[in-house]
Amino acid sequence: MSRFLSENFASLIPYVPGEQPKGQKRLIKLNTNESPYVPSELVVQRVAQAAQHLNLYCDPECTALRQEIAKLLEVQPENTLPTNGSDEILYFAFMAFCDDQHPIAFPDISYGFYSVFAKINRLPTHVIPLKDDFSIDPLDYCGLNENIVIANPNAPTGRILSMEQIEKIVQTNPQNVVIIDEAYIDFGGKSCVPLIKKYDNLLVTQTFSKSRSLAGARLGMGIADSALIQDLNTIKNSINPYNVNGMTQAAGIAALQTNDYYRDKCQTIIETREWTYAQLQKRGFSIIPSKANFLFVKKEGIKGKELYQALRQKGILTRYFPEDRTADYVRVSIGSPEDMKVFIETAEEILNEKG
Ligand code: PMP
Repeated sequence: MSRFLSENFASLIPYVPGEQPKGQKRLIKLNTNESPYVPSELVVQRVAQAAQHLNLYCDPECTALRQEIAKLLEVQPENTLPTNGSDEILYFAFMAFCDDQHPIAFPDISYGFYSVFAKINRLPTHVIPLKDDFSIDPLDYCGLNENIVIANPNAPTGRILSMEQIEKIVQTNPQNVVIIDEAYIDFGGKSCVPLIKKYDNLLVTQTFSKSRSLAGARLGMGIADSALIQDLNTIKNSINPYNVNGMTQAAGIAALQTNDYYRDKCQTIIETREWTYAQLQKRGFSIIPSKANFLFVKKEGIKGKELYQALRQKGILTRYFPEDRTADYVRVSIGSPEDMKVFIETAEEILNEKG
């Protein structure tokens, strides 16, 4: 730390992203919930075309992309705001709607960025423990009278709340913004986007990083009543009007125009998840039922960190979360069927070696 850093940030502990391997050795990468499948051909073509115009600034309003999003989600373009990954829309929302008088509530086990965003904005938080089985009790959030952020499905557990349960939370907090982070909604869940027409206090966030194979392009979005979107736009235009670059806008449009390609890939990922679940269960693992593109798993007798390290040694990257309640678990992203076969064989080998 330099002697110049503001005291405001002296105790800030940043979010730590999953490892992106740099060495020569091929690692099977099951640690950051990316898609194992490359983008559609149309995406690659359109990005190359867009690169020819990089001398010009991009459209700060993402007009064509917003039209395409609106068409697919059956909302209006003014209900949408594309951002630099969904991390950015989440950050904008914390800034826009939370302050000393408006704390933010979220589960104790959830996406690590929520507490970091709260800390950097010096916001009061209300951290609500998950139940013992790692499920969210919706009643904990009904009539809370605080802003709320819930990942649905939750990460890193993969558990999901129904649309009816979410609606109850939104309905009973009419004076507060409820953010539903749907980063993993395309792997078997039902999106709450239709509810934005009924509730002006609901913000749904989604990403192109997981189900649309664009983690490296950085594209996310918020979907909400147009007044909420206007507020978020005020924040965006006060920080970085060109937050989504031209190649990424082109990639996003092409991805939405090749929706069938991605739906197929999501279906394969869901099938691979269920196959992996069954294989792990046969080998004595406990697994949280997941509607996401990852599984949260544990095996008696081996801590999360130990299993993570043993897998890494054998060329497979996963993720563990050292906090008390999650220390027994490893989170495994769903890769290709071939990669998951190697993962299962390797996990078995590790358990055999341990005896
Ligand atoms: N929400 C959740 C629950 C996530 O796991 C992630 C991925 N790290 C994000 C949001 C953000 O993803 P991105 O910025 O790539 O859209």
